[in-house]
Amino acid sequence: MNNELRTMNNKMNIKNRVAIVTGGGQGIGKEICLRLAENEAKIVIFDINEELSQEVVREIKAKGGSSLALKVDVTKYEEVNGATQQAIDKFKGIDILINNAGITKDSLLLRMKEEDWNRVLQVNLNGTFNCLKAVLRSMVKQKYGRVVNISSVIGIRGNIGQANYSASKAGIIGLTKSLAREVGRYGITVNAVAPGFIDTAMTRRLNKEAVDAIISQVPLQRMGKPGEVASLVTYLVSEEAAYITGEVIKIDGGMAM
Ligand code: NAP
Repeated sequence: MNNELRTMNNKMNIKNRVAIVTGGGQGIGKEICLRLAENEAKIVIFDINEELSQEVVREIKAKGGSSLALKVDVTKYEEVNGATQQAIDKFKGIDILINNAGITKDSLLLRMKEEDWNRVLQVNLNGTFNCLKAVLRSMVKQKYGRVVNISSVIGIRGNIGQANYSASKAGIIGLTKSLAREVGRYGITVNAVAPGFIDTAMTRRLNKEAVDAIISQVPLQRMGKPGEVASLVTYLVSEEAAYITGEVIKIDGGMAM
């Protein structure tokens, strides 16, 4: 079998599906955009970092794909809703929503500033709520949808210095399971992916000692790659995963088993 044929046969069934990816300008979100586009989905990026997301759009278009980037702060419902309408006008519907935008503001709880608690909850949890509110109605109407919320193993097992982040990511798990129960009857699946320690700008801020300490807890003895998370997400939004909903799937090299 030649390479082209092998690639064709390996494609997930999402051709012409329209996907919103929040935080798609870099890291895990960028890889999700590229992987979905390789599988011939149309990509709408919601990111506060316009420059980076326009670069992703250029990369997708250069390979013959279809993509649009909109400057959106997911904490602002009006912006999210306006951008969702723009995406619907352009692509005639939304089939897939990946709630990936997320931040950390780490410190021990006793030293944690209220503003750092609030901001992490606002971006990670309220941002997910805002995007769901804006997109869900059109999915219900068309009786089809795929939602993947990016949680974290820290939302499952907790972590010193990350009470705000852990609470936001645990909240995403409860939200995922409740929503999966609410919208299953409309042909909409809702799942969460909980990555472990993935090599992105978010984790590159850590010093070498911290990185080595984390890797020593990972049975596979390395960081994960954003592309590995993107492959799992692509599967979850495909036709092939039609009977999976309400799940929280860890992708962490065995770290939190
Ligand atoms: P990243 O490289 O920092 O990328 C996140 C993107 O989201 C950035 O482009 C960021 O823009 C954007 N963003 C931040 N706040 C936003 C807002 N309010 N509205 C819209 N966009 C916003 O992060 P990542 O490591 O790829 O993480 C992606 C997701 O995976 C996050 O939810 C994270 O919690 C989760 N996760 C990551 C890891 C890991 O080890 N990396 C592990 C578990 C879970 P700016 O750069 O301009 O802020």
